[in-house]
This record gives sequence, structure tokens and C-alpha cells, in this order.
Amino acid sequence: MAQVRGITDGDLLLVKNEKALASTLKDLPLGQRFPAGAERIDIGTEPYVVKHIALGNGLQVGELWFVLSQAELTTRLADQRNLVLGLAAGGALAILIVGLLMLRNFSAPLTRLIGDIQAVSDGRFPEMPEGHARDEMGYLAKQFAGMVNRLRDKQSEIARVQAQLEEQATTDALTGCYNRHYLYDIFPKLWSEAMRQDKRLSVLLIDLDLFKQVNDEYGHLAGDEVLRQFAQVLKSGTRVSDFLFRLGGEEFLVLTQGDIEGAQIMAEKIRAAVAGTATHHDGHTMRVTVSIGVAQAEPSDGLKGISAVLTRADHALYAAKEAGRDRVAVYEDRLRRRA
Ligand code: GH3
Ligand code: MG
Ligand code: MG
Repeated sequence: MAQVRGITDGDLLLVKNEKALASTLKDLPLGQRFPAGAERIDIGTEPYVVKHIALGNGLQVGELWFVLSQAELTTRLADQRNLVLGLAAGGALAILIVGLLMLRNFSAPLTRLIGDIQAVSDGRFPEMPEGHARDEMGYLAKQFAGMVNRLRDKQSEIARVQAQLEEQATTDALTGCYNRHYLYDIFPKLWSEAMRQDKRLSVLLIDLDLFKQVNDEYGHLAGDEVLRQFAQVLKSGTRVSDFLFRLGGEEFLVLTQGDIEGAQIMAEKIRAAVAGTATHHDGHTMRVTVSIGVAQAEPSDGLKGISAVLTRADHALYAAKEAGRDRVAVYEDRLRRRA
């Protein structure tokens, strides 16, 4: 195609009195007619698109026209259309690829994350690998996993402390026996279960004899050691199903399934074991004895009957002390009934 001073896309014609005067187009027969206002014109056999270029008022040399071959124009339009179609297809492909990547990198992890959040709000703490943060979604998942893992640690810490507190609330620190508070807590449950199974519950109320003298003679720490040693003897002399309580000071209680006769035999065994055990502390050897009052829970006592049972056991214990200590006494009414 002809090139005229920067105009690369067409040819220029000079027209005067509607006739071609000069041209950059080789095949144009000079003198061809250019009717004013024409938009298309045949040059030889080929159609051309023409455009009149205004040169300004008062210019008498002629009019300048710009012409472009129709075939050339059509080819160029087709090229442009192909370019636009190509760009559109490329754009659609890019959107598809981005969509697939988002589905893989965003949608799936997001669905997982939503499931995990649901689990946490239900009070569960799923095991979550913290992974690598490759993008924002990965960063979010990593942060969330870290948070859940820290929460899980905190929860087990809380559970541990709670179990510790519960144990402290129900257990005597010196001897490891349950405390008086727990006796009042557990007795109604054990008693209703025993009644349902038509079983008996009995208690052994145990008091160390003349324990004040141990403290006076060997000191309070030595007294503590005797109490600890006594609790060990008590554990060895009872069954795992028995409940051992330190009611306070040097007074203990065994709550055992079975009737008063079985409890009496157990009490006698414990009494003999304590009498036969020495406690060594700080170069001293100490021996103590115990007095034991035995009583049985009666259906008429009711669920809150622990107070009534304790009162009867206390009567028996008093009798044992009165009779000279280091002995077992069974609540008198029972003895009378048996007789
Ligand atoms: P009895 O045979 O009549 O029971 O005489 P006792 O001396 O055992 O009875 P008393 O109630 O007069 O004294 C009990 C003593 O137990 C007094 C108290 O100092 C001591 N005691 C109570 N709790 C503890 C304790 O935790 N550690 C020590 N070392 N002594 C204790
Ligand atoms: Mg005592
Ligand atoms: Mg006492």
C-alpha cells in the first residue's frame, strides 16, 4: 500500500472541479469523476471507500480526498473482529481458570473451615493441622487452627484443675480419706441404691484413743504421721467398695455395704490391726489403739438418715470408750434385738 507522509493506511487524491487531478494511487486514471458527497467509488473494477478532507475556506487548488480499497478495509475489519473474538475467548478462558483455582484454593478450604467453626460452636475441638499459609484463605485456616488448638489445651487444663478442685473439695489432704462434706453428699445415693437392691448399709465410727497424749508427748507432726499411718491400716483392712472418711480430728468413719454383723467383724479386724501397728517418726516409735462404734442404717431413717446412723454409732463409740477403749461396741438396740 502507498505511504504518504505518515498516512500509511490509504491513498490521497487531489480533486478539482469533481475530477481527479493528482493521486498517490497508481491505477487511477486522472480526470476520473469524483461527485461531491460520494462515499464510495469504483476505480477500475475495484470499489473504494472515499472520504473528503476539508482543506479550509478559500483554498482554490482543489479538494483533497482520502481513499481506501474496499477489499483492504474488509480484510482489516475481519482481522479486528478476529482479534476481538480472540481476546474474548482468552478472557473467558482466564475467568474459567481463575474460577477453578478459586474453587480449589478458596471454596473447598472455606467449606472445611465452616465445618470446623460449627464443631467448635458445638463445644467440640477437632484436631486441626496448622498447615502452611499460601494465601489469605490458608492464613485464615492456619490462624483458626492455632486458636482451636490453644482452646483445646486450655480446656484440658480447665478439666484438670476442675478435677483437682473436686478432689480437694471431697478429700482430706492429710490422709487421702473422703471428708465429712462428701459423706453427706454420697450417703443418700448409696442408701437409695442399697434399698433398691434390698441390701444393708453399716457404719464404723472410729476414734483414736488418748490421741491428745501422742501430740503432747511427741508433737503435732508426730501426731500427723500417726493419723496417716492409721489411714493406711484402714485402707488395708477394708474393701475397695467401702468408703473411708475422716470426719475431723482423729475421728474416722467406714461406710460399708452389708449388715451390722459383718461390720462388727470388720471393726474387730481393724481394731486388732491398729493395735498391732507401730508408727516410727523422728526416732520415736508410737503405738495407738482405737475404739469403734458400729451401727446400721435402718429404712426408717430415710434418705437423710446419716445423722440418725451417726448418732447411733456415736452411742456405741461412747460405750466402747466407757468400757476401757481399744474395743468395738455395736449399737445396743441391735444387740438387744439379736439377743
Ligand atoms: P479419747 O480416747 O477420749 O478420744 O481421747 P483423745 O485424747 O483422743 O481425745 P481428745 O478429743 O481429748 O483429743 C483429740 C486430740 O486430737 C486433740 C487434738 O489436738 C488432736 N488432733 C485433732 N486433729 C489433729 C490433727 O490433724 N493432727 C494432730 N496431730 N492432732 C490432731
Ligand atoms: Mg480420741
Ligand atoms: Mg475424738
